[in-house]
Amino acid sequence: MIYLTVTLSVLLGCLAAGLAVFLGRYFIQGRYKRFVSENSACLRALKEINARFTFFPEADFDQKHTYDNENFFDTISCEDFLIYQLQYQAKKIGEQIAKVAYNRSEYCKYIDEIKALRLGEFSSPLGKLKREKVQKVEKELCHKTKLAQPVTQFSLTVRLYCARINGRIYAAKEENFSAERVLALMKRMGNKSGTFYRDRGIWDAICRVERGKVSNRMRFSIYARDGYRCRNCGASQRYAALEIDHIIPVSKGGKSTYDNLQTLCHKCNVEKGNKL
Ligand SMILES: [Zn+2]
Repeated sequence: MIYLTVTLSVLLGCLAAGLAVFLGRYFIQGRYKRFVSENSACLRALKEINARFTFFPEADFDQKHTYDNENFFDTISCEDFLIYQLQYQAKKIGEQIAKVAYNRSEYCKYIDEIKALRLGEFSSPLGKLKREKVQKVEKELCHKTKLAQPVTQFSLTVRLYCARINGRIYAAKEENFSAERVLALMKRMGNKSGTFYRDRGIWDAICRVERGKVSNRMRFSIYARDGYRCRNCGASQRYAALEIDHIIPVSKGGKSTYDNLQTLCHKCNVEKGNKL
């Protein structure tokens, strides 16, 4: 019993001593911090500089797509896919590129201003405080107060996957695009007449991606909708190889939508060619 009491009081003693040391440090540390935040010329100047700068946040424009058809996965490049997406997202992506460029130039100015700041100047005497420790605390506080580096480099990644019918991905490719490359594509896409792009490379890329929107899943549901027969001559699956045809051809601006797709036999499809 006595042994237990002694152990317990020793334990409590240790705890109390530990707590005292902790509290002591905590209050001393607090005094240093208070002195620095009230008297450091550097910290005050830093806060004033911070108030003058605002940066734009990072925005994610990465593109991802999964093909269930190996043929499309092989023929469509990451750049093709990006060109297709730029038809709809060029404005937002262009704005983000401009914002990142703004961040970059503003952050350079910010860093230059910060480099000019001097540590170790205080508006009132240190008194009993140790100079070495005051300066250490000042350095830490200034470091914490510095604005975090904003996004200063634009980049966009396109990732294309190929998956089996059960969803298992067995092939993938990805490519990263710099701001310069995206802007160059946008410039080529600016050359337009109506909904058509005059740049042949751009138009071909868009057509490849549009055709690639007919997934295997979609193909089979269109065969089923059309009763597994050619919509032109009525040949059935048993006698003819059935194919999916774009009623308005992709090269003429037709889309890969259910309304614009039909089942044709190989013969009728070849005869129809690129006609409407
Ligand atoms: Zn036919």
